[in-house]
Amino acid sequence: MQTETSQVGPAGSPSRHRLTVLAGPTAVGKGTVSADIRRRYPEVWLSVSCTTRAPRPGEVDGVHYYFISAERFDAMVEAGEMLEWAWVHGRNRYGTPRQAVLDAIAGGHLPLLEIDLAGARQVRESMPEAHMVFLAPPSWDELVRRLVGRGTEDEEERTRRLETAKVELAAEQEFDVTIINYDVERAADELVAVMKGTAH
Ligand code: 5GP
Repeated sequence: MQTETSQVGPAGSPSRHRLTVLAGPTAVGKGTVSADIRRRYPEVWLSVSCTTRAPRPGEVDGVHYYFISAERFDAMVEAGEMLEWAWVHGRNRYGTPRQAVLDAIAGGHLPLLEIDLAGARQVRESMPEAHMVFLAPPSWDELVRRLVGRGTEDEEERTRRLETAKVELAAEQEFDVTIINYDVERAADELVAVMKGTAH
């Protein structure tokens, strides 16, 4: 039986899957859902972003992010090496290395980006065929509870992130599909099902 990563197209080349972009408000659980996908769905190719922020405990360079300097980030943007990039929470820059995504698509993988809303909009502009998926919280109160419960940010940072989240929630209508994150595994299963239905 052929697997998702070894399908062969009509011309003998691997069949190509649409790029899927997962975005949503702060603390909705995008990172947790994508970590669950990384663990349970090895057939999904998850882009590794570059960031200028410092690693958190347990984060591994090249696995969770490429942790790079502001100078290196500038150079990559200048050279056109970022598919998209954005300031997130006004503090640090995050970006998707372009070539790795193109290689993953050409190689027939199931490619997934987990990025912020500003980045998602850039991808929609440059790759209109990308499949845009919005991860929504079950409710606003639940989103606040998750944000505070995570406990990794100070008061000022939490306030800043909630402001961002309000704006981001309003963007749901720009997306092709909404998945509500009632439960991490269920949301991950739904996302992968959506991705597997978008081959062309
Ligand atoms: P964190 O610092 O908590 O890992 O991530 C903060 C935010 O950055 C998350 O909302 C995440 O989706 C976003 N993010 C991660 N990688 C990228 C990227 O490559 N591009 C953009 N635009 N946002 C990203």
